[in-house]
This record gives sequence, structure tokens and C-alpha cells, in this order.
Amino acid sequence: MKVLVTGGAGYIGSHTCVALLEAGYDVCVIDNLDNSSYEAVKRVEELTGKKITFYEKDILDKPAMEEIFAAEKPDAVIHFAALKAVGESVAKPLEYYHCNVFGTIALLETMKKFGVKKLVYSSSATVYSSVKEMPVNEQSFAYVTTNPYGWTKIMCEQIIRDTCHADPELAVALLRYFNPVGAHPSGRIGEDPAGIPNNLMPFVAQVASGKRERLSVFGNDYPTRDGTGVRDYIHVCDLADGHVLALGKITDGNGVYTYNLGSGQGTSVLEMVKAFEEASGREIPYVISPRRPGDIAEVYADASLAEKELGFKTKRDVYDMCKDLWNWQAQNPNGYQK
Ligand code: NAD
Ligand code: UDP
Repeated sequence: MKVLVTGGAGYIGSHTCVALLEAGYDVCVIDNLDNSSYEAVKRVEELTGKKITFYEKDILDKPAMEEIFAAEKPDAVIHFAALKAVGESVAKPLEYYHCNVFGTIALLETMKKFGVKKLVYSSSATVYSSVKEMPVNEQSFAYVTTNPYGWTKIMCEQIIRDTCHADPELAVALLRYFNPVGAHPSGRIGEDPAGIPNNLMPFVAQVASGKRERLSVFGNDYPTRDGTGVRDYIHVCDLADGHVLALGKITDGNGVYTYNLGSGQGTSVLEMVKAFEEASGREIPYVISPRRPGDIAEVYADASLAEKELGFKTKRDVYDMCKDLWNWQAQNPNGYQK
């Protein structure tokens, strides 16, 4: 079975390509390398000993997409390609709506034209940002969010649900990721953020390697056990495995399946810093700074539906996430750049 992976050179996409190839799928990747490097694809091939057909193309380029679908004849698509920085989306909303929403529509149109009926879509826990009750289950979803990036995820989910409603042969998994962290245990692939990392753990890793002086902890006055923000961190390899399970589910069925992919555990910023210090043996200097605008106190998953229906259960804990992140960071202090 052949899977076309959009955004497959990116952080989650590259780890998912490893899991797919190891599970016996054939893989082709479309990525415009806007936020990634071809080196990641080469390393996935090196890790698995298998080939990936790679197209450096934009998903908005319909003629190119049609040529690729005609040549590859994929059985299923996993759609990662998107812009994903929350803060940037506030400054550049039109770029985000253009890439994420039009890109998803272009993909769905191409799938329709070529009769491709299986899709796994990268959604996000950001769709829960207005929800107060924890943990959040798939029904907690409210059509409210705090930023354009979040809106693109809510809109794309809805566009996909409507498309499925119109074509009962379609089978789609909407996967709502919590906070992916870590890297492949080999240290060969990992997260390679451009510029100053927005997310907590890539920033912590750069403090450990000496690239940044200290971490700013955004707020210690939240109503949480130590006052810092609580999130549900999930090892990127567990997340990748979740895609293989979701693909299995939609291969056998049709309709829309929505799953939280998280660990079900909430961990605070200071607990993550401590876990990283233990895993790396490095001290992480930090200062308490004001809250980051738009942040919420806590969000963590009720992950029981994915466990029940997919057999999905995380195997790696926060220590494993930190150990593998540090292994990647120490081996690749400049990411994929030599
Ligand atoms: P990433 O930026 O590492 O990967 C996205 C990839 O898509 C990149 O390789 C980029 O070059 C490519 N891309 C972007 N626009 C494209 C376009 N128009 N045409 C072709 N390729 C394009 O990000 P990631 O962290 O791997 O995220 C993957 C998906 O998961 C995204 O849809 C993101 O919104 C979603 N997600 C990520 C997180 C997270 O914390 N990393 C959390 C929830 C959801
Ligand atoms: N955070 C922090 N310092 C940073 C980056 C993040 O204290 O430099 C906190 C942030 O306020 C939140 C948690 O770490 O409580 C996770 O933030 P991240 O941006 O990684 O994920 P998200 O907020 O998107 O869930």
C-alpha cells in the first residue's frame, strides 16, 4: 500500500515516514521545504534502509499535485503540510489561511479527481483552547480558538467533515495532537526549528547546548500545582505510531474518526525542566517571566478513545522524551545544517 505524505520532511512527518516504512508501507513525500530540509528525508532512508520518492513541491501547486498523483497512484494520504507557529499566524493571518486552508482544499480536490479515499489529517489540541474542563475528550470540541492558526485547524476539520458527508466512500482520521516532544532514539532525525524556538522543549534543549543563555518560564501564577503551565507531552515516535494505527483503522472503514493523540498526563513547565536536567545531566538556568499572551493554564487529553478504538497507548514517558531530545540536540547542535 502506498502512502503519500505531505509535509513529510518536517518534524512529525519525518518520524511518521520512519514508522510507515518500518510497518511495510511504500512512501512518497511532497514538501516545499519551507520549514524543513531534504537531509531529513535522506536520514529517514538511511535509518530504514528503504527509499522515499521525494517531490519538492507546494501543495497549492495543483498541476504539480495532479502529476504526482497520476505518477504515484497513492492509496492513502497523510496531510502534515501546514504553517504552524501560533504567534506568526497572528501577524500573518492571510498566509496561514492561504497555506493551511487552501492547501487542504487543493489536496482534497486532487484526491477526489484521482479517486483517493483515505486521509489522515494533522489537527491539534489547539481546537480545545476555550475548554475549561480537563481532561478534554473528542466531544469537548468548541468552535472557538484564540488565533488564526487554531482557526485553520478548526476550519480544515470542518471542510473535511463536510467532504466526507458528501462522499460516503471517504475514510478520514482527524488526529488532534497534544505537545509532541523528543526525537528518534538514534539522534539522526528530530525537530529543527528556524530561529528562536517558540516551543518550550526545543528552547530548553538549546539552553542545554549553550546556544541560549536561559529559559524564560512564562508565568508561575497559574492555578496549577506549581503555578506554571501544564501540557500533555507526547513522544514524537509514539505520535508517529498513532498514524500507522489510524491508517489501519481507515483502511477497513469509512466515515470520519476523530482521536486525541496524547499521553493523558499533564506535566508543568518546571517538571519538564527537571526531567530534562535529569535526562541530560545539564543544568537549565531559568527566570520567571510574565505570562505569554494567549496561553492557557492547562490542557491535557482524555486519550481513552484512541486506546479503545486504535489500541493506541504511549510507550515513552517524559524522561524518554528529554533523553531523546538531548541526544538529537547534542549530535546536531545546528539541526540539519552541517
Ligand atoms: P513542520 O513545520 O516541521 O512540518 C510541516 C512541513 O510541511 C514542513 O516540512 C514544511 O516545509 C511543509 N510545508 C508547509 N507548507 C507547505 C506547502 N504549502 N506545500 C508543501 N509543503 C509544505 O511541522 P510539524 O511540527 O511536523 O507539524 C506537522 C503538522 O502537525 C502540521 O499540520 C501542524 O499544524 C500539526 N501539529 C503540530 C504540532 C506541533 O507541536 N509540532 C501540534 C499539533 C499539530
Ligand atoms: N513556555 C515557557 N517558555 C518558553 C516556551 C513555552 O514557559 O520559552 C511554556 C508555555 O507558557 C506553556 C508550555 O511552556 O505553558 C508549553 O508551551 P509550548 O509553546 O511548547 O506549547 P503550547 O503552548 O503551544 O501548548
